[in-house]
Amino acid sequence: MDICRLYKAELKELFKERGEPSFRADQLFEWLHRKRVSDFERMTNLPASTRVWLASEYSIPSAECVRRQVSSDGTEKYLFSFSDGNCVETVAMRYEHGLSVCVSTQVGCRMGCRFCASTQNGLVRSLTAGEMLAEVYKASELFGEPVDSVVLMGIGEPLDNFDEVIRFYDILTDSSGYNLKNRSVTLSTCGLVPEILRLAALKKQLTLSISLHAAFPEKRSSIMPVNLRYPLDELIDTCRQYVALTGRRVSFEYTVIHGFNDSEEDADRLTQLVRGFQSHVNIIPVNDAGRGISQATRKQAESFADKLTARGVNATVRRTLGNDISAACGQLRRDTVAN
Ligand code: SAH
Repeated sequence: MDICRLYKAELKELFKERGEPSFRADQLFEWLHRKRVSDFERMTNLPASTRVWLASEYSIPSAECVRRQVSSDGTEKYLFSFSDGNCVETVAMRYEHGLSVCVSTQVGCRMGCRFCASTQNGLVRSLTAGEMLAEVYKASELFGEPVDSVVLMGIGEPLDNFDEVIRFYDILTDSSGYNLKNRSVTLSTCGLVPEILRLAALKKQLTLSISLHAAFPEKRSSIMPVNLRYPLDELIDTCRQYVALTGRRVSFEYTVIHGFNDSEEDADRLTQLVRGFQSHVNIIPVNDAGRGISQATRKQAESFADKLTARGVNATVRRTLGNDISAACGQLRRDTVAN
């Protein structure tokens, strides 16, 4: 069982059941999330007998780097393998503030968005919180810098792995662990309405980002099957509730597919949708994900952003990083060591 996915309070319970003092939970948590050792044997301030039962019942998930690619812009992409041989990709990018890590939350994805490579072969399994933490810790070690922010924008739909993603967030931001600032995490979703409401109820300080990609219902359904289950109007209404409940702003992602979703009418409709939000629209030129949708240029994305700005919408074009190593949005794939 993954020990890194356990809250400190749960570790304390564990030690209590064994009749061991609760300060050992503090020591263990620190080894796992601050010193980040990969082996119980190295936890030298724990008694040998404790290390024995820990090692026999629990494991420390590791992300073994089986491929490392470095982009000409400095972005790095890692193919990480977990203990069962399943692999995901994790991306490390340098931003003005420091290192940003793009974390995968599932091996594959079952959302079926037509423009995204990650969903092409469906979902294999969800990752545990400990495996997601291992992605962050290992990426930081390989990149050689501490992590400044985390974006849950890798492979998978974070809200389709709700409980583990929340654990991941809570543990990563625990002040006695890695201590990432609790506002430094962005969770991106294709729009699972019930889970957005569940998230709102938890009142976390993370930033919620919604993958919109189309402002008309039929258009959105044609590229994002999730829209058939949770239609656009319901999604936007849910975002309003999210803002009201959490006091946090919501941001939107909009991938420009030239000739499909970047007309004046699209800009009009998108403006109506995000009106009244303290929101921000991130424009992404669609990247080639090998799915028959041709790459949009930065110019096309900028031209659509200009249309929005002219309508009073706060819109910026996201920097495309790591394109030459297929590390950009929509280009990450699951893999297996055997392949
Ligand atoms: N499943 C979540 C997390 C993935 S985040 C979500 O859908 O939000 C990855 C972001 O990149 C999403 O906004 C996704 O829609 C976008 N994306 C996917 N394929 C893309 C592509 N080919 N070009 C540009 N952006 C893409």
